[in-house]
Amino acid sequence: MKILVCGAGGFIGHHLVRRLKKEGHWVRGCDLKFPRFSRSNADDFMIGDLRDPYFVRQLVDQRFDEIYQLAADMGGAGYIFTGENDADVMHNSANINLNMLDACRKRAIPKIFYSSSACIYPEYNQMDPDNPNCAEHTAYPAQPDSEYGWEKLFSERLYLAYMRNHGIAVRIARYHNIFGPEGAWNDGKEKAPAAICRKVAIAEEGGDIQIWGDGKQTRSFLYIDECLDGTFRLMRSDFTGPVNIGSEEMVTIDGLVDLVLTIANKRLNKVYIKGPTGVRGRNSNNSLVQQKLCWAPGRSLREGLAPTYNWILGQLASCFREALSTSSVRSIPERSSSTRLGSMSKPTTGTPDFANATATGSPIAH
Ligand code: NAD
Repeated sequence: MKILVCGAGGFIGHHLVRRLKKEGHWVRGCDLKFPRFSRSNADDFMIGDLRDPYFVRQLVDQRFDEIYQLAADMGGAGYIFTGENDADVMHNSANINLNMLDACRKRAIPKIFYSSSACIYPEYNQMDPDNPNCAEHTAYPAQPDSEYGWEKLFSERLYLAYMRNHGIAVRIARYHNIFGPEGAWNDGKEKAPAAICRKVAIAEEGGDIQIWGDGKQTRSFLYIDECLDGTFRLMRSDFTGPVNIGSEEMVTIDGLVDLVLTIANKRLNKVYIKGPTGVRGRNSNNSLVQQKLCWAPGRSLREGLAPTYNWILGQLASCFREALSTSSVRSIPERSSSTRLGSMSKPTTGTPDFANATATGSPIAH
């Protein structure tokens, strides 16, 4: 098949292209940027801005058999819940989806996948950390806790309207906290698993790890390979969705930290600080996906965290190798404003100071 993946420079899109190529498809990727950590396997990769309708017309220049639309302006709690990026998030992602659907209609694209989010679920059903309700039918009356969630809800409806009015087959997944190697880990857009892995890896044995909130918030996290399995299962089915693709293995943020500490074989003191945390509780409800697609994730959270932790450890090691190989030592590529996401201390000598590295705030994934 000829397949187009939008957002192919991002975390899920990059892994998706790799899997589609393994399955033998011809794939065009598109993004504002190439993947950050390894080369794309796409046969063709167009760099461009999906907010620009002229670029989108050039991108969708043929009748692709399938399109996966994953491009969005998004990030972890530090990006979505502070309110600082609300206008961008809504404007950018809505424009991308409007342009993509218009181009699909004009090229008579038969099938498109849209990646929605658990963030569409109403805040009022996620106040009790032990008993959140994220069944698909509870999405309305709508009250997402972020503008990111509102835009996703709008776009779900947009895709469904194009299906009804223009005959495009649509598949909509509501992803719940996808994580794994090659995801954002230090650029301000990382989510809880990556942020916690990084902080644990950096921290000195017996030191502190800072966590946003009280650590009692609950979430579930799905490993990237499982996410792709669920996505393909949906795309190859005759079920439109929207349907949850997530894990039902709910864990507190404290519990997530404990799991990473076990993997790292470290002991740290948890320090709770104020920060954007999102809803109190969130867990995937997989009744519908099990019923319609006979799908459930096969891997535990711990099984996914181990390769993720090791990958982040590798990233840190290569940052240090790079720092060592230059005579004037640079800081590791953290955000320049380090109060939220932490930074490595800059040694005054030419040797990177691993022991004095700090671990600060902990974004809680949405
Ligand atoms: P990501 O940020 O790594 O990937 C999104 C990609 O879209 C980025 O590479 C970005 O450059 C690209 N993009 C943004 N604006 C663009 C534009 N104007 N033109 C072209 N490309 C543009 O995110 P991800 O984690 O890979 O998520 C993929 C999709 O899944 C997103 O739609 C996201 O909202 C959704 N989702 C992800 C999660 C998760 O936990 N990762 C959870 C729920 C939903």
